[in-house]
Amino acid sequence: MDLRYSEAEEAFRHELRAWLAEVLPEVGPPPADRTDVEARRAYDTAWQRMLYDAGYAGINWPREYGGRGSTPTEHLIFLEETERAGAPYVGVNFVGLLHAGPTLIAEASDEQRARHLEPILRGDDVWCQGFSEPDAGSDLASLQTRAVRDGDDYVVTGRKIWTSFAQVADWCELLVRTDPDAPRHRGISWLIMPMDLPGIEVRPIETAVGAGEFSEVFLDEVRIPVANRVGAENDGWRVAMVTFSFERGTAFISELLGSMRLLADLAAVATRVTRRSATAADDVEIRRELGRLDAELDALWSLTRRNVSQAQRTGMVGPGGSVFKLAYADVRRRMADLAGRLLGRAGLALGETGGLSGLDHVEERIYTLTLSIAAGTSEIQRNIVGERVLGLPKER
Ligand SMILES: Cc1cc2nc3c(=O)[nH]c(=O)nc-3n(C[C@H](O)[C@H](O)[C@H](O)COP(=O)(O)OP(=O)(O)OC[C@H]3O[C@@H](n4cnc5c(N)ncnc54)[C@H](O)[C@@H]3O)c2cc1C
Repeated sequence: MDLRYSEAEEAFRHELRAWLAEVLPEVGPPPADRTDVEARRAYDTAWQRMLYDAGYAGINWPREYGGRGSTPTEHLIFLEETERAGAPYVGVNFVGLLHAGPTLIAEASDEQRARHLEPILRGDDVWCQGFSEPDAGSDLASLQTRAVRDGDDYVVTGRKIWTSFAQVADWCELLVRTDPDAPRHRGISWLIMPMDLPGIEVRPIETAVGAGEFSEVFLDEVRIPVANRVGAENDGWRVAMVTFSFERGTAFISELLGSMRLLADLAAVATRVTRRSATAADDVEIRRELGRLDAELDALWSLTRRNVSQAQRTGMVGPGGSVFKLAYADVRRRMADLAGRLLGRAGLALGETGGLSGLDHVEERIYTLTLSIAAGTSEIQRNIVGERVLGLPKER
């Protein structure tokens, strides 16, 4: 793989940078109240619409579905430049843009792609993910939500949990059990569920950081057309693995770039914090940890480019996504630990802390904890890496 940028790619960067400089002053900051999900939806989808109108939505999505049809490298340049300029990111529609959409591109029928992809890019439709259940998180294949075929519909009954932004979603990528007698992984189907169907009840969950992101979704005899199934009946586990490969492999790219900026902030903070007569940066242990983290972020960037180029070749990221997710969650946790050591008591204050790119350190610390759980826990990523990369025996 050639890691240098071509002239055309540099021209794309230039043009995008100029556009961002022109439009970002009009965009303004995101809603101050993070629990106001309606306001967050309005803000995030308005930005998505601006990208779409300017030809910057879905950089690497096919042109026939409203994307730009560009190379993965231009997609990386897009992420680099938007992150560098402090532009909004995917926000409440992270499911639609980062993994439901790519799954539809890889697995859906032409009619399903024509119906769903462009509205995601235009900012018209927001998606959520209905995979986890109260008794099926890591062990997702034990999910119990039942779908019984009745004519041209599935009648779906069950309960989903930790469904991010379900309150403001129009569609849900839903995993259901269509054959209760088949071996666990073989009786599952992947459905597209409109969120306004009768029988759906969304109940927000309040967490340590307040209400907002999560909901439980109760499904009581919800009739979902069979035409909304993606892939064959009972082949949903394979389709879900495609979804996960995007969710773990490429969905965190922009965050990784943000982490590089955050590490530069931490290095700057280390030169300002004094202990007795020396600064924190004079402490060899602090310098060593900063250097180690810098090298690891660099390695993750190379891994990202490898994953992106594999996705381009094969349509899927594969287990490289799990390697990334596992390492990234660990690096971010250690960055939060280092920030805690540098900021000391100041890090416990609420609100923006000590020059950390506008971050609230307490929120940031809680967020880094979620990274080792969301999209499959770190233990599960270790199992996948052990089995699929290292060829170790399967877990019983
Ligand atoms: C920020 C965030 C957003 C999320 N958004 C969504 C969403 O939109 N939609 C959705 O469907 N879900 C979502 N989830 C849920 C997430 O997918 C689950 O929390 C995750 O899969 C873990 O499942 P669980 O919570 O049931 O934990 P459990 O599976 O009960 O795990 C508990 C502990 O046991 C460990 N463990 C379990 N099995 C094994 C094993 N075989 N080997 C070793 N250790 C094991 C786990 O690693 C973990 O430490 C989200 C979670 C977070 C944190």
